[in-house]
Amino acid sequence: MSNQNNLDGIAVAEKARLITPDDTPAIVRAKKALNVLDVTQGLADLEGTAARVSVDNKRMINCRSDLNQLVPMKYDWAWQKYLDGCANHWMPQEVNMTADVTLWKSADGLTEDERRIVMRNLGFFATADSLVANNLVLAVYRLITNPECRQYILRQAFEEAIHTHAYQYCIESLGMDEGEIFNMYQEVPTVAKKTAWGLRYTWAISDPKFNTGTTANDKELLRNLIAYYCVMEGIFFYCGFTQILSMGRRNKMNGVAEQFQYILRDESMHLNFGIDVINQIKIENPHLWDDALKEEATQMILQGTQLEIEYARDTMPRGVLGMNADMMESYLKFIANRRLSQIGLKEEYPHTDNPFPWMSEIMDLNKEKNFFETRVMEYQSGGALSWD
Ligand code: FE
Repeated sequence: MSNQNNLDGIAVAEKARLITPDDTPAIVRAKKALNVLDVTQGLADLEGTAARVSVDNKRMINCRSDLNQLVPMKYDWAWQKYLDGCANHWMPQEVNMTADVTLWKSADGLTEDERRIVMRNLGFFATADSLVANNLVLAVYRLITNPECRQYILRQAFEEAIHTHAYQYCIESLGMDEGEIFNMYQEVPTVAKKTAWGLRYTWAISDPKFNTGTTANDKELLRNLIAYYCVMEGIFFYCGFTQILSMGRRNKMNGVAEQFQYILRDESMHLNFGIDVINQIKIENPHLWDDALKEEATQMILQGTQLEIEYARDTMPRGVLGMNADMMESYLKFIANRRLSQIGLKEEYPHTDNPFPWMSEIMDLNKEKNFFETRVMEYQSGGALSWD
């Protein structure tokens, strides 16, 4: 816009602000306040507004260019995940829970072992996704200094809210004791341990005074990302998801299983996003990824795997649904090896195999029944706005 155009625009705006006889005293006060508003202070607060953003200046952390300018993009993978996440939008109420309610309430519908699995998993997940959401919104978002990644984090945060909604919807539909379920993360030891382990890693960076910019603090952020993306979302969700989805494969609790299936699909995208973020930070800041941090990261993944194995033993004291704790242990070690190699670390579990190859099929977006296709069409027609 030329300077003359700018000046014309200012004159038109000021004319619109002239006080008229119709204005109430409150409106007069509002207009007068705008006459003395100093916008330079607000603009100075915007980070790095001195120049237009160039791709070369964009960085995952400690970036000084304007974070309000999405384009030009540097990390196309982050934007693509945002688009994919939106394309897979779903809501818990769309899943029919009628058959689940009947089965759950009938005296001989499920065995005690099967009921324990449903209870424990709703107990863990009902609070776990809130922990992830809080960590994202209250800690991680502020410290990731890239708009396209922040765009995905906003989408992820909403998905975490949908997941918490989904668990609540299952708990409510089945008429479970809500106090018991929502307090499991404090009262059941194998659930509480996983939660406590995760919380340790959000403590430092969720302090509003925490900032990146030193080697020690940048490492602390990386630890948090590894704890939440690789362990919490990448390991702690896997025993429970396998159990519930196995139940669905046996035609039991199909509604709960369908909810978990959509959640798992979202989660696998969260995990992949997190791994890309971690690896990109490593590329841009190679001095952070030293032997000490590699050893720590390995330990974190091994500790998380051990806790998940203990959770598997607790939730499956006997064989159930065609699986048992030994098979789950083998699966978790297989998953842990993957997490280690995804962030460039050495695999630690020799001779693992994957006893549940069907899990990867469920996560594969392309193999889904036509649920999402029909949803997208419905949204397009339902979302057409009319201004009449
Ligand atoms: Fe998640």
